[in-house]
Amino acid sequence: MIKSVAGTKDILPVDIHKWNYVEDIVKKIFSSFNYKEIRTPIFEETSVFYRSIGEETDIVSKEMYTFLDRSKTSITLKPEMTAAVVRAFIEHSMGNSQSLNKLFYISPMFRQERPQAGRFRQFHQFGAEALGSNSPYLDAEIIILAFLIIKKLGIKNISVKINSLGVPESREKYKILLSDYLKEHYSKLSEESKKRFEKNILRIFDSKSPEDQEILKNAPSLLDYLDENSLQHFAIVKKVLEENEIKYHVDPSLVRGLDYYTHTTFEIVSESIGAQSALCGGGRYDNLIEQLGGKKTPGVGFAAGIERLILAMENEGIPFPNDNQLDAYLVLLDKDKEFLVNKFGYVLRNSGIKVDYDYLNRSIKAQMREANRENAKFVVFIGGDEFSRGVLLLKNMTDGTQSEILIQENLESLIMIMRGSN
Ligand code: AMP
Repeated sequence: MIKSVAGTKDILPVDIHKWNYVEDIVKKIFSSFNYKEIRTPIFEETSVFYRSIGEETDIVSKEMYTFLDRSKTSITLKPEMTAAVVRAFIEHSMGNSQSLNKLFYISPMFRQERPQAGRFRQFHQFGAEALGSNSPYLDAEIIILAFLIIKKLGIKNISVKINSLGVPESREKYKILLSDYLKEHYSKLSEESKKRFEKNILRIFDSKSPEDQEILKNAPSLLDYLDENSLQHFAIVKKVLEENEIKYHVDPSLVRGLDYYTHTTFEIVSESIGAQSALCGGGRYDNLIEQLGGKKTPGVGFAAGIERLILAMENEGIPFPNDNQLDAYLVLLDKDKEFLVNKFGYVLRNSGIKVDYDYLNRSIKAQMREANRENAKFVVFIGGDEFSRGVLLLKNMTDGTQSEILIQENLESLIMIMRGSN
């Protein structure tokens, strides 16, 4: 049997209402914060990601779907969106026409990770990028925005972690101190952390090994080495969160995987979805745009995984509204009236009423079963005695009542009833 590729998933009609529901809420909240949607291609030239995310990160070194196309250009399916948005921002000189661009996206992403619960190779993110201001109030807005979406979805068991990575200069100084400390414990570090020690020392904080974590407990904290400006920036972010009654805890080990962060980083994690617990993450990146060839422009953003949000909602028993209900199912009583079913169906559908009927020559009983399966609000019977009297029999499937409607040329009254039922 032909199967989908490991780590990819079909979203079938039985589940699509969950996706539509989440995406609707996401779009509404982005709109209330005045973020405008941006869509970029599924793939980019590889250098877009290579130059931004950082060569030594897991994404670039192990996870990208990269291939040469027929003209021998190296192409990569996007593993994250920030780099793609920044590429578009620079290419279209978006900073010239507007000094602050608040953008959002919803898009599939691709990473060749080991598939497991909550971790896929094609997954879906929504997120925001606000480009053009270094205000700490904007860092706070991004965190509040992500928090509010998760709250509006009804997810409860969450915690907000924040940290500050300061500016690259203080981070470089700190890395030397960290390296001096870890050298003393080098032989006890896990193999993975030994590799990170050489290539990307801050990432040792992401280690899952309990021995590594034990060593890290006594490591110097980057927060103690931030410059005055960074501390002030961080203090305002925390104050705004407090003013908005968003509980957070400062986690000095929250370095996040990517190289481009400066100042604030944050993550919202769920206690309801197992090991892959991060629902969303993000932070500030004041040097990225310049690094990719644009004018120096500060930025801040976040990305959230839709699969994990849906999983958290399912695990917390949060219902997904499903408005996929049919307004009416037309049941054909006399086979010779099939053309009329078609005609009425067209008139109703043309008026925006959700209608379906039988195409399988089924018995009346089977048609009624189908109407029930589709959860139709009304059944309209086409044919029978009523029809010869010039009326249609209408059954309200919610309360079981039946009524008759005169068949007018334009079926106006039927349309009115259906509309009233919406
Ligand atoms: P990141 O870009 O790695 O910070 O990821 C942001 C969010 O995307 C995470 O918090 C997850 O919710 C989601 N995510 C990242 N990688 C995956 C994956 N492989 N499968 C499913 N969701 C993911």
